[in-house]
Amino acid sequence: CFCKLKGSIDDCTCNVDTVDYFNNMRIYPRIQSLLVRDYFRFYKVNLKQDCPFWADDSKCAIRYCHVLPCQDDDIPEGLKGDIPRDIHLNESPVDKYRANAQINDCRHSAKDHNMELGYLNTTISSENYKEFERWQQHDDAQDNFCVKESSPGEYVDLLLNPERYTGYKGTSAHRIWRCIYMENCFRPENSPHIFIQSSKMNGMCLEKRVFYRVISGLHTSINIHLCSKYLLVPQDSLQVSPDNQWGPNLDELQRRFSSETTGDEGPNWLKNLYFTYLLQLRALAKAAPYLEREEYYTGNEVEDEDTRLAMNDILNVVRSFPVHFNESVMFTGGAEAQVLKEEFRQHFINISRIMDCVGCDKCKLWGKLQIHGLGTALKILFSGKFDKWESTLNNLNRKLFFLERSEIVALVNAFGRLSESIFELDRFRRMMR
Ligand code: FAD
Repeated sequence: CFCKLKGSIDDCTCNVDTVDYFNNMRIYPRIQSLLVRDYFRFYKVNLKQDCPFWADDSKCAIRYCHVLPCQDDDIPEGLKGDIPRDIHLNESPVDKYRANAQINDCRHSAKDHNMELGYLNTTISSENYKEFERWQQHDDAQDNFCVKESSPGEYVDLLLNPERYTGYKGTSAHRIWRCIYMENCFRPENSPHIFIQSSKMNGMCLEKRVFYRVISGLHTSINIHLCSKYLLVPQDSLQVSPDNQWGPNLDELQRRFSSETTGDEGPNWLKNLYFTYLLQLRALAKAAPYLEREEYYTGNEVEDEDTRLAMNDILNVVRSFPVHFNESVMFTGGAEAQVLKEEFRQHFINISRIMDCVGCDKCKLWGKLQIHGLGTALKILFSGKFDKWESTLNNLNRKLFFLERSEIVALVNAFGRLSESIFELDRFRRMMR
């Protein structure tokens, strides 16, 4: 079977079997039950942002590209920016700020709760507050690997809008992938294909290889999802998508990844999925002490406690992985390395902008979420803020560094997507047998 990958994962000290066993037995069942929790289920995203690179062709008419909007009643009170009662009692400038920010509406709900918990931990006067906030924004901007959305967007219920086959393909989809690989990945000279041939990878430095591998791994993951949840009945059916319409399509997987159809590159693309998984796994392990202290606030005490327990359980498993990706060997070597790091960050920010050009709303939703999650992982690994977390956390000044709720939701959901891809690949292997 072409998808029975063997041996070590390039640029990692780990092999495919180790990841398969660890993911399929230990991570996958846990992350599946975590992601149905309210905290992780609702993601705020702006799907109406203009494409900054070319005239927008995103007026999508494909039926399966539609994103179902969430109803106001479905959104947990705590995510709408409602102020917990005990916070009302303490009338600091920060509380007033929060009170002003609160609008109980699906479209314009208030700022991230976690972000505001950060404000609550800060004892600063209102005069200094604005100045402080300006510096904070400046500092955050230096750490981020994704572009900040210009307007807040709307909550989307991810469970109502699963990532699957939509029928998005052809010129528009190819333009996005081409733009990502040809204009925003680091490439060796004379590399005519959209992908980089594995024989040319050794001529590139580690950081540039990592950049390409994470993008290629994400591409693999998206394409595995559309193969494992393929539309199995004719598209012109009038049936309104019952769940049994979607299922695995082995021929489609083979077409996309077998050696014969991809000039021997397909198995490498599958291996890149494992690489991206390991990078995100490492980011979760590194941020674990921080994530263990999160409130996971939705306004429902029982739900929130269950989410904290489930999150801590998965973080313990993540930490137990024996051969984590080692990010400390990247971007070492003085000024030149820092220039490369900034270039790396700018390229990734650009890719996050390209997501606004995706011509299918459902693909855009999951593309944005997964790039946001990957960008958050890169921020954890390379911003330096999570290298010395202990002293900062003990300081209790969470304003010094924090992840917004949307970053945590994207990080964990994006990791869940990769985990499911690896699990699905195993299912395809069993089907082949
Ligand atoms: P594509 O996947 O479009 O690939 C283009 C070329 O890139 C290939 O010909 C090959 O040379 C190269 N390539 C392929 N895979 C890799 C890899 N892993 N690494 C390196 N190079 C590679 N479709 C859906 O049905 N559902 C979705 O949810 C969905 N989400 C998408 C999200 C984004 C951001 C984008 C850009 C597209 C999405 N699509 C989705 C479309 C899907 O990814 C394909 O583009 C589409 O199915 C057409 O596939 P294709 O066979 O022409 O090759």
